[in-house]
Amino acid sequence: MEDPEEYQSPVEESRPDGPGTVPAQYQYVAGPDSLLPEGRSTSTSSVLPELEADSIIDAVTLRRIMKNRNVKIIPLLICSAGLPESAKKEALQEIFKTPITAGFSSHHILATNRSNYEIACVYSTSMLYNFGVQSCQLIRSSEGISYKISTDQPSIYKDTLLNKHMKELLAHLHKYCIQFCDKQELEFVFTVTRGAALINIWNITLNTNVFYFLRAFSGHLTNSRMWLFADLTIEEVNEEEGKLQIWQKPLDYLLRCMRLCKGVTTHKRPCTVFASHSGEDSDKEIETKMKTFEEELQRVARQLNVTEFVDQTLPFNKKTQGNYFLLFLKNLVGSVYGKTRIPISGLFLRGALEHKESMFMRKAGLRQLAEECDMNDEDFKEFCELFTSFGSIFDLSLVNDTSDIIIVKPNEFLSNLNKAFDNPPDSKMYNESGIITKTAAREMFGASQGETFMSVLALVGMVAVVPGGKYAEDETHEVCYYMPCARKRKQERFMDKEAVRLLLNNRSPINFVNFEVAFTNCMLKHSFAQLQLSTAENRTIIKCTDNSSIITMTYRGDEIEVKVMPPSKKHTLCVVQAFKEIAEIIDKKKGRGRFSYAFAIMCSKNEKEYHRLPHDVKLCDECKSKAEYSDWIEALTEEPIPEKFKFVTDIEFDDVIFVTKELVACCDQEMLTDLFKTCFDADYKESLPPWLNVLNQLTKWITQDLSNVPNSSATKAELAAKLDKWSNSKPDEIKALVKTLHKFIQ
Ligand SMILES: [Zn+2]
Ligand SMILES: [Zn+2]
Repeated sequence: MEDPEEYQSPVEESRPDGPGTVPAQYQYVAGPDSLLPEGRSTSTSSVLPELEADSIIDAVTLRRIMKNRNVKIIPLLICSAGLPESAKKEALQEIFKTPITAGFSSHHILATNRSNYEIACVYSTSMLYNFGVQSCQLIRSSEGISYKISTDQPSIYKDTLLNKHMKELLAHLHKYCIQFCDKQELEFVFTVTRGAALINIWNITLNTNVFYFLRAFSGHLTNSRMWLFADLTIEEVNEEEGKLQIWQKPLDYLLRCMRLCKGVTTHKRPCTVFASHSGEDSDKEIETKMKTFEEELQRVARQLNVTEFVDQTLPFNKKTQGNYFLLFLKNLVGSVYGKTRIPISGLFLRGALEHKESMFMRKAGLRQLAEECDMNDEDFKEFCELFTSFGSIFDLSLVNDTSDIIIVKPNEFLSNLNKAFDNPPDSKMYNESGIITKTAAREMFGASQGETFMSVLALVGMVAVVPGGKYAEDETHEVCYYMPCARKRKQERFMDKEAVRLLLNNRSPINFVNFEVAFTNCMLKHSFAQLQLSTAENRTIIKCTDNSSIITMTYRGDEIEVKVMPPSKKHTLCVVQAFKEIAEIIDKKKGRGRFSYAFAIMCSKNEKEYHRLPHDVKLCDECKSKAEYSDWIEALTEEPIPEKFKFVTDIEFDDVIFVTKELVACCDQEMLTDLFKTCFDADYKESLPPWLNVLNQLTKWITQDLSNVPNSSATKAELAAKLDKWSNSKPDEIKALVKTLHKFIQ
């Protein structure tokens, strides 16, 4: 029998803006049981063959339904990210019609569709999944068939948690189905949708530990999208340093994090930028500002080799009240094709986890619950991956296969992380030194969860587990935790010119390793190494108890400073080995691009020039005679950087093209001739077109200048320094150009 009424079933077929035809396999089919395939394959038909009119759905029936049928859902995580004062607060308030607090917050939205997407805010995680179950068309109303929901039920599961949730689910169905039978106005109409979009929205501030934590799940949050709130009203801090300079750091950070969503077929460009303004500027001015912002974004993106990530940039007037974001969300859900088919029992299981007191579970324990919910091994594996993909759980074993921890309440976890380390209520010791004792962890996250909480942070590389008992007076525990990013006091900005510099190829978004944590882990393997308190946000200090050498490591993004004082070859060798180990760790994280590094010293005559260790024959006489580097030269000769990690250059072909284009646009032949003579000691070939001339010369210089250092080329810093020197005696126009180039190639 064919259903006479055609209705749109958008969760299976996403065409939200017009009437659609339901594919045959999704149409309502009623008929004798024998005509229907068995088991879960019946899921494509929408009727419950075993139920007749006025049947009673009780726990046993519901469990059978959940076992046998699948539901199609759109799982979606929206990371709403921005600086603390950005308009994301206004945007979320518009959607949720409720004040949004500072710091991390999580929200749920359910979207379902008849002729257009209906969107509703849902107040708890378990409610979201209960609606998900309900959307599976347990009831078919247009036929005049109704089912009674029994709320009186025996305990059918061994696990009390599951029984408790079954009771709640039946009560939920009862509540909404009674309303339906009474023909009352319904907020939600699910009887014909068979599936819903389950949307998780996180309000995240950039540069916080929450964002930091999420980096660990890059590549696993496959059903996530980013809403980035840029604020066009922010005053430019310093015109000299460039437009929208204030954005540089967060953008850099954000772009490195773009892999949170990358590599997903459903969201090729996972980021939407909302450029907010106060409505005081004219449209033209807003357009100009947006253009400037986009250019800045592109510039940073190019530096980091992140392309094709912004879907669109949209202006947003902070002062206007409206349904801008709700409409946007509707369109977004309508355009998402990533629908997933899962057993209904998956939604039931996820809902049940909300009754757990703890945020954490052993994977084995969760597997047992899954078995009770009639899920097999394959179902369970899919459950873990799918629910991690939109941040509904965090399966730590996906990022670290030695782990068997599952975070079953991610919202609570992230909220705790935010409260403890991003917005700490008072000035705690850990803000200064980054040392968190077990006692402090228990105070912050509860006696039963404190240690697990910190060990999770260790698993994702935010924390090093170090020997305890000496950082706090009342501390008797064997271990405590070193969390460099918990320190939010001051950065060590003063550059130590004597220190050896570790150059990193920062082009690929490899910054998923916290170098301070990794370095601490590697160094503390030696019995003589002891972590010292350090109050600078970017500095780790290790004391060697065997000879009192102090090893200082200062992280500056694309450069790391290391110093061993007093010099000691033994400990220098340990440092060299530690970075080799770190390189191996990064290398194991596949898909992050090639990681390469080199050790160098700053020339004592010219700070802009570096000599690479161990055997830069360009080493000038002055630097050659310096004794303190001899340990490094020996250590690096003994323990050379493996070939696969050797730093060649950080200049990419794109950079060369860009610099060429800019130089040709800005300089006449006379200036180019001078540039060639002064910088490259070469003749300008008049027979060639200017661009080819410049391109040839730059390429030649970049690849040959350092040919005395085996397999090495010039770096961006070296190219910038060269052009800088030349532009000193040139007109302002050229100086301005070199300044732009500096910004681009640095
Ligand atoms: Zn429940
Ligand atoms: Zn020198």
